[in-house]
Amino acid sequence: MFDPFSGSYEAARRRFREAARAAAAPLERHPLAGRGPDGGELTVDVALVGARNPRRAVVVSSGLHGVEGFFGSAVQLAWLRRLRDAGATVPGGTLVVLLHALNPFGFAWRRRTNEDNVDLNRNFLADGETYAGTPDRYDGLHRLLNPGTPPPRLDAFRLRAAWAVHRHGLSVLQNAVATGQYEHSSGLFFGGREAAASTRLVRERFWSWTRAAEEVVHLDLHTGLGDYADYRLLIEPPHVPDLGWYRSRFDAERVVPVGDDTPYAARGVMGAWLARHPGPREYRFACLEFGTYSPLRVLAALRAENRAHHHATPGAAAYGRAKRELVECFCPASGLWRRKALGRALEVIAQAVASG
Ligand SMILES: [Zn+2]
Repeated sequence: MFDPFSGSYEAARRRFREAARAAAAPLERHPLAGRGPDGGELTVDVALVGARNPRRAVVVSSGLHGVEGFFGSAVQLAWLRRLRDAGATVPGGTLVVLLHALNPFGFAWRRRTNEDNVDLNRNFLADGETYAGTPDRYDGLHRLLNPGTPPPRLDAFRLRAAWAVHRHGLSVLQNAVATGQYEHSSGLFFGGREAAASTRLVRERFWSWTRAAEEVVHLDLHTGLGDYADYRLLIEPPHVPDLGWYRSRFDAERVVPVGDDTPYAARGVMGAWLARHPGPREYRFACLEFGTYSPLRVLAALRAENRAHHHATPGAAAYGRAKRELVECFCPASGLWRRKALGRALEVIAQAVASG
C-alpha cells in the first residue's frame, strides 16, 4: 500500500519531485547552502498545480520547522497522489502551490532550526525591526533550557519544567520560551541575527509563485502543539480581524485566534510578514497545527536535541536518542496518529481549494 511518509529528507524530496512530474506540475528547485547527512544537496522545491492565469491561489507549505517536514511532506505527497490516482482536480481559475521543505537543513538533520540554529518562524521580522531582545522570563530560564553538556540518559528536566508550570502556569512558560529570542545563538527559539536564506527566498519569490492571483490562501503545516492527532487553524494577529472568513470556510470550532494567552503569539512569523507585503492581493494565512504529545514532552525533546546538536557527536548514543525522540514528537510513528492527522490535513486543504 502507498505510504506517503518518508524516512528521510532525501527520500521525501525525491518522491515529491516524482509525484509533481507525474501530475505534470511545473517544478522549481532552489538550492540552499549546506549538505544533508548523506552529502546530498539541500533544496526548497516548489510545485505549481492548476491555472496558468489564476484568480486565486492556495499555498501549502511544509517544513518551515525542519523536522516537522516529515509530516508536512507526507501531506503534500498524499495530495499530489490523490490528484493522479483518485481523479481529484483543482477547480478552474485556481492554482495550488506546494512549497516543499522550507527549511531543508532542519528536515535533513532532524532539527527544528536551520544550519545557524535559527527558528525560521521567528526570523521574518518587519523591515526596520532589529534582531534583538528576549521575552521577559527567557533570560532566567536560559540555563535550564540550554545546558552546556550532552543530554544524560535520564534527565530531570520534565520534573523541573513541571514545577515551573505549577508555579507560573503553562502559558507563562510557553510565552517565556517560545515567542522567540534574539540573544542566545545556540539557545532554543533563536530568531537569528539577520534574514536567513529561506526567509529571503520566501520574501523574494512568494508572489511570483502565486502568479497574479488576486486572492491567496496560505496553509503552513506544523506539528507539535495541541491535542493528539487533532488540529487547529491558528490565526495570527494580522489576520484576526478577518476571523469570520476563516470560520465560514473551515471547521469553525478549530479556527483559533492567537493572542497573548496560549497559543502564544510569536515574533517574526512568516504569515505576518507576508500579510504586511501582499501587494494588491487579498492574503489569508493559517498555521495548520497538529498536536502530538504534551507540551512538556515536546519541549523536553527540543531541549535534548539542541543539547545533543551542540555538545554531542553524531555517533554518540545520546545524539541518536535525542534525534529519535524529536522525530517522534513532531511526527509520531503510530499508524493511528498518521492516518488521522493525514486525513484531516487533506480535508482542510480540500476546504481551502473549494472555498473560492
Ligand atoms: Zn512548527
